[in-house]
Amino acid sequence: MNYKKLAVILSLILSMEIVAHPSLIIENITLIDAENPVRLKQTVLIEDGKIQSIIDPTEIIEEQENSHTVIDGSGKFLIPGLWDAHVHLTFIPEIDHETYFNLFLKNGITSIRDTGAVIEKLQPSLNYIKENPNKTPRLFYAGPLIDGRDRVYKGKEPGFPELSIGIDESSDIENVVNDLLDNGVTFLKSYEMLSKDTYLELLKIAKKNNLRVTGHIPLSIDLEEAIEAGLGGMQHVRNMDLACSLDAPELLTKRRTQLENENDIEGSALRTQIHSSQRYYAIDNHDPKRCLRIIKKLAEYGVFQTPTLTINTLDSRRFYADLKWRETYQYLPEKARNNWQEGSIKSTNLAVTDNALIFDKWSLDLVNIMNQEGVKIIAGTDTPIGYLTPGFSLHKELELLFEAGMTTREVLRSATITPAEFLSIENQMGTIDEGKLADLVILNSNPLESISNTQDIHMVISKGIIQ
Ligand SMILES: [Zn+2]
Repeated sequence: MNYKKLAVILSLILSMEIVAHPSLIIENITLIDAENPVRLKQTVLIEDGKIQSIIDPTEIIEEQENSHTVIDGSGKFLIPGLWDAHVHLTFIPEIDHETYFNLFLKNGITSIRDTGAVIEKLQPSLNYIKENPNKTPRLFYAGPLIDGRDRVYKGKEPGFPELSIGIDESSDIENVVNDLLDNGVTFLKSYEMLSKDTYLELLKIAKKNNLRVTGHIPLSIDLEEAIEAGLGGMQHVRNMDLACSLDAPELLTKRRTQLENENDIEGSALRTQIHSSQRYYAIDNHDPKRCLRIIKKLAEYGVFQTPTLTINTLDSRRFYADLKWRETYQYLPEKARNNWQEGSIKSTNLAVTDNALIFDKWSLDLVNIMNQEGVKIIAGTDTPIGYLTPGFSLHKELELLFEAGMTTREVLRSATITPAEFLSIENQMGTIDEGKLADLVILNSNPLESISNTQDIHMVISKGIIQ
């Protein structure tokens, strides 16, 4: 019975009633998506927010030309609207939802996945979308991070705003999940302090409701066990470091002891303590054979990976040190702009550590192997964390995925078809085909030649409306 709830929410997000849908004709354009071969000089008819038909230009009748807005696509390229599949709309209160939505659309991002926000704080964004469906992207959200009793993001310390709820063995998880569904979530996000048994129970109940669980793998569980128990996705390639170590079982035992016994420090501090004691040791003692076995298992079980290379390489690449990057701060509200400017300068003065460089290379190498082994890769950034400007940062992520070894077509897939697949809505979006939703971007240059060309935007169409 419950599985129907998700279907209802999804169809609401996908149908989004727009008053007075304009009809568009994009003429003489090259169609590029990650599924179809390149189609030259096509004409695309858009009606009621959908791609009505893809036709030969000679088939256009005069009547249509008069009743539709005609866009000349000569020399241009049409791609499906992009996704940023890892955003936190409520992480920095100084950035309002209107700014986010404008920046996403301006950058060709017509769908976003919020991967952690308490519903109450997300509510203004949801209301805004409802009131302004024709100038907002589609928003799919997990609601709060589902963490253990000792939560990491509970709003007590700077850098750790309230993003989570905590559950343990005594919780009525069925009720928690039901409540989230009533609040419109379309997937769940688990977090690191969950106990093994609670996590396994959560996976079970999520499955019953057709919800995929993505997130950080709890520190208390073996990754392979989590894969077999049905986890739906991973973020930041996190936990791969620990799971791919020669000493993975010993590290897990140590973590469990720490989780059980360190009761006198905050969850956020304990989490950091565990990672700093294990991450670089684990990477240093990387076991390629064990790692390949795990990666093959991720592919076999269809686990989605959102590597967020922008955030994984933040301390090594330091985008914020680049003056050109800082120009994107001009689109932020004044308070955020000033904070970011100041913070960027301060961080730029710090030296790049060896560990940051090691983590950078390790992250990119891992993404390359995962991609080669058929793990489904999703593009996401973690904006607005790390001075990653909403919208602009997705294009950085695409460049990094390419640098890691993915082809331009594979990168395009990671920001179009694959995130739709995660929500099982790939029959409605992600490619340029008749009947699909008209979330589209017109580019001035070919993204298959250089993935940076996704930044060369001529026009964005969201829900069939020119932005
Ligand atoms: Zn995140």
